[in-house]
Amino acid sequence: MKADCPSFGLYVHIPFCLKKCAYCDFFSQTDYSIANAYLQALLTEASMVSEQYRERTIDTVYIGGGTPSSLSASQLAVLLGGLRERFHINADAEFTLEANPATLDEEKLGVLRSNGVNRLSLGLQSASNTELCTLSRIHSYEDFEKTYSLARQYIDNISLDLMFGLPDQTEGSFRDTLNRAVSLKPNHISMYALKIEEGTPFHRMGEKLSLPSEDEVANMYLYACDFLEKAGFQQYEISNFARQGCLSRHNLRYWKRKEYIGIGPAAHSFIGGRRYANQKDLAAYIQALSRWEIPPRSEEITLSLQDEIEEEIMLKLRTTAGLDMVYLKEKFGYAIEKTAASKIREYVKHGFLTHKGNTIAFTPRGFLVSNTVIADLLPDE
Ligand code: SF4
Repeated sequence: MKADCPSFGLYVHIPFCLKKCAYCDFFSQTDYSIANAYLQALLTEASMVSEQYRERTIDTVYIGGGTPSSLSASQLAVLLGGLRERFHINADAEFTLEANPATLDEEKLGVLRSNGVNRLSLGLQSASNTELCTLSRIHSYEDFEKTYSLARQYIDNISLDLMFGLPDQTEGSFRDTLNRAVSLKPNHISMYALKIEEGTPFHRMGEKLSLPSEDEVANMYLYACDFLEKAGFQQYEISNFARQGCLSRHNLRYWKRKEYIGIGPAAHSFIGGRRYANQKDLAAYIQALSRWEIPPRSEEITLSLQDEIEEEIMLKLRTTAGLDMVYLKEKFGYAIEKTAASKIREYVKHGFLTHKGNTIAFTPRGFLVSNTVIADLLPDE
């Protein structure tokens, strides 16, 4: 281990869910018959990566999916023990596992804790059982409460995932979800607007879905930003809110453009100035790894200067810390404060951006139109 080699983050994809939610286009399947073979393939890919980067340590781990907590206790032990054998994970690493209510018990939580998992990301989505049913979630709000209080006995740092803009959701029912979530004193809340993704049951329902209007969705977002701030949560990214000291170090890595490696099908990596992703093909993944071959990739690019500038602007502006324009100029040679001076002034004047010192950042109102504003600020190719 070389002291001067920076650590990187590790993402591990578990492509299994007990049931597909009606809105979800994440890469996962409900057939667990190949789960053990998959874990072996995953650990083979982990061995390849650890061999390639044997001089580097890991300071954040994120096991996502899919539903990692739906693996059995013994499968979780194989996975976590296998990762620990292959990688040098720093003693103070942030180690997150995504979990769904009703898929955790004391045995699994014991396995997680004894293998160093110190953060849970728990998918609540809504406190309304009607909304949970519409989303085809496998759990009720009562299941969530039981899982939450059990998990609290094992893991100190718990994040909740919430959604807004749901079919038949009202501003009142979303407020109720926020109230209930905050009353449980989680360390962190992630809050996402529903997007209707192609290929999902929601997409097929089309007009039959009764969605809130754009204004109602915007009101829900602005209400939540204000409510969560008053409840002691700092907004640090467009969709993420944390109590003091509980910002997600792994997710910050993505937005700060720090290096990470993803293993498993559909997992993305960013290392050595290259971005690549494994194909979303479970059978091809297992087959390649059984021959000790690199799994098939769906994309692999070395970033050009233009790519780096665009990423720097897009990713930094997702955070409330914002974009340091001097850093952008010094590191990539792009003087945005000159090229886009009048646009920035206009966005500040209309309350979408703040401009303090060298930094521009979105306001909550600005986050609602961030895609349009960012597109407007990017340099011409
Ligand atoms: S549990 Fe999560 S990953 Fe699985 S289908 Fe539902 S939203 Fe998608």
